[in-house]
Amino acid sequence: VAKLLKKQKGRGTWCGQFFTPSDLIEIDHIVPRSQGGKDDYKNIQLLHRHCHDDKTALDEEMMLYS
Ligand SMILES: [Zn+2]
Repeated sequence: VAKLLKKQKGRGTWCGQFFTPSDLIEIDHIVPRSQGGKDDYKNIQLLHRHCHDDKTALDEEMMLYS
């Protein structure tokens, strides 16, 4: 997680906001594993919990229409 934080310069990739100590940080697969995403560093990112919820909803929507 620390490595990813550095790579993302302390920001969530979804909203671009900085993580603060009170934020819940979650690890997200950029390409969901259900869509063939790999389980390695290049395919994971850190998101705020609420951002992760938004992205997951969108991922699921995209799956429905793809
Ligand atoms: Zn966020």
